[in-house]
Amino acid sequence: MRRTADVAIIGGGIIGASIAYHLTKKGVRDVLVLERDRLGSGSTGKNAGGIRLQFSSEINVRLSLRSLPHIERFKEEIGVDPDFHQVGYLFLITEESEVGPFERSLALWSKVGVPARRTDASEAKALSPYARTDDVRFATFCPKDGYADPSSMLNGYVARAREGGATFLEGAEVTAIRCANGRVVGVLAGDDEVAAPTVVDAAGPWAGEVAKLARIEIPIRPLRRHIFVTEPVPGLDADFPLTIEFASGLYAHRESGGVLLGMADPNEAPAFDESVNWDFMPTVVERALARFPILERASIKTGWAGLYEDTPDKHPVLGKVDGIEGFVAAAGFSGHGIMHAPATGELIAELIVDGRTSFDIAAFRASRFGSGDLIREYNVI
Ligand SMILES: Cc1cc2nc3c(=O)[nH]c(=O)nc-3n(C[C@H](O)[C@H](O)[C@H](O)COP(=O)(O)OP(=O)(O)OC[C@H]3O[C@@H](n4cnc5c(N)ncnc54)[C@H](O)[C@@H]3O)c2cc1C
Repeated sequence: MRRTADVAIIGGGIIGASIAYHLTKKGVRDVLVLERDRLGSGSTGKNAGGIRLQFSSEINVRLSLRSLPHIERFKEEIGVDPDFHQVGYLFLITEESEVGPFERSLALWSKVGVPARRTDASEAKALSPYARTDDVRFATFCPKDGYADPSSMLNGYVARAREGGATFLEGAEVTAIRCANGRVVGVLAGDDEVAAPTVVDAAGPWAGEVAKLARIEIPIRPLRRHIFVTEPVPGLDADFPLTIEFASGLYAHRESGGVLLGMADPNEAPAFDESVNWDFMPTVVERALARFPILERASIKTGWAGLYEDTPDKHPVLGKVDGIEGFVAAAGFSGHGIMHAPATGELIAELIVDGRTSFDIAAFRASRFGSGDLIREYNVI
């Protein structure tokens, strides 16, 4: 079948959906989102839903500052409750080597207006009563942070974008990007030949592979990350901040009366592998028991794995790509794509419709990897 679209978006995760919504809000009606599987079947359906301002790079902080108000008023703007638990993020600093970077982050947060503060071990304990804090040198806490439900956010964007005229096709894998005279002219998705002057690569962990269809190199690597969720825990009655033991990368937040646990496996090699490595679970449980003794009364209910879309400097690739007109990248969020989806959708829609953005995204250009202009992010979990 032959189709046309003003903008074809490859990838039906939160980034593609947010861009589609913001494009329709700016009056672009002929938006086509092509998703090879089901909407939300990629990383958007497999993450922890964490929302935070506490990054170490100024541009990541600013992207979060730009997104947060949208998440706070998501229900009013989008009409769907994102279930945002604004309970804060608490970073527990236990190692000497972490002190300097977090001191610098505190200075940055104070400069740019992030209401994060330094707390001592006893205040950390008061904030996150289920966590052990006797070995904590200090902690940082931001009450504006928290966690939300990414599926509700995705569904909200999809519903509003559809109302605005966007079409979402599931089971539509893009296998070719058509180019002529140095510009994009369309894509092939299944049997659909789609003519489109603008193509957005919002394929998450697969965005590097999609870029290759247009002969573009974007260094995005798929890195498997696990989440395990406990059964309801007796005695764990109150919500608590999303709490991170920074040294190990263990993080926890409340989930359906139990606790959601995440932790990176330092031995994980990049691969498109979303199977659960149950052999890794005991490592997570051991760290979790040491940090959250209340979990002695818990058992693991379920676990899953998803892919981080990892770039060499842990920042996304956003915007037009040199050498090919009409190709726009919006991927590589390195584990932060839910919280940065509102700002990203808004900015990419501005770029496509107005030709410029109200927030300078030049630092996120794809060419930075070749020119060595990498941006450092220390607070990756
Ligand atoms: C375990 C884990 C925990 C995380 N925790 C957090 C967190 O706390 N906070 C946070 O902000 N972020 C978190 N993230 C990251 C977050 O999930 C991602 O950054 C975000 O979901 C990226 O959204 P996306 O739309 O870019 O990608 P995806 O949701 O992966 O969507 C991309 C879509 O593209 C489709 N696709 C791929 N190739 C093609 C093709 N050729 N044709 C058509 N469609 C294609 C895929 O099927 C997929 O549905 C976490 C990730 C993981 C794995």
